[in-house]
Amino acid sequence: MEKTVIKYRHCGRDVYSFSSYSQCQCPICHQTPTFGLLNAPVALSCPFTNGHKVSCAFLIGSIHGPSHLGEWSDSEIHVGLSNSEGLVYNYTLSGVRRDAGGWERCVCVCVCVCVRLARSWDAELEKFSALPEWTSERFEEERVFGSCCYGFALSFINHMLLLTGHECLSRDQFTQRHVLPRMKTVSRYINIYHAISQHGFYTANAPDDM
Ligand SMILES: [Zn+2]
Repeated sequence: MEKTVIKYRHCGRDVYSFSSYSQCQCPICHQTPTFGLLNAPVALSCPFTNGHKVSCAFLIGSIHGPSHLGEWSDSEIHVGLSNSEGLVYNYTLSGVRRDAGGWERCVCVCVCVCVRLARSWDAELEKFSALPEWTSERFEEERVFGSCCYGFALSFINHMLLLTGHECLSRDQFTQRHVLPRMKTVSRYINIYHAISQHGFYTANAPDDM
């Protein structure tokens, strides 16, 4: 998913294609539209982030690559937390890993808005990862309750929220408030991308936010 997706309006519809098509031909009227300043094609912002370049973020990745992030399923998705030096902490079958690579194209949910929180994030994350809860043996036990990597990441976020006098978030609350809105955008982008790959274009009826 390396190509840039552009969007323009023609024949009363939003038309999406890859920017590599030097001349965009409207798939509905088969004409080459002329664009002014106001209706010039715009590039869609890619929803994937380099997780090693964002600090204190909740990252959602897929072992099968970013195009598999559209389906929100536990078996497809692996989550981690970045520190300020680009390391991604994630709970796996072999315990907590600190990855310096591999999270270059993932979905980023920024959870750290408070500067005070950011300052102690790295040290707290390191301490938290060393807790006996996050061993490889426990990973097997926890597996029955859904994805353990999610539990690890959310427990740490709650730990930081408590430290700074905030209320904890349940898994449902966190997912509804922070993760699903991001995933909705990502999933739409992936669908558009796949449609363009297959048919050369994608059109949508009403103007929308993408
Ligand atoms: Zn047209």
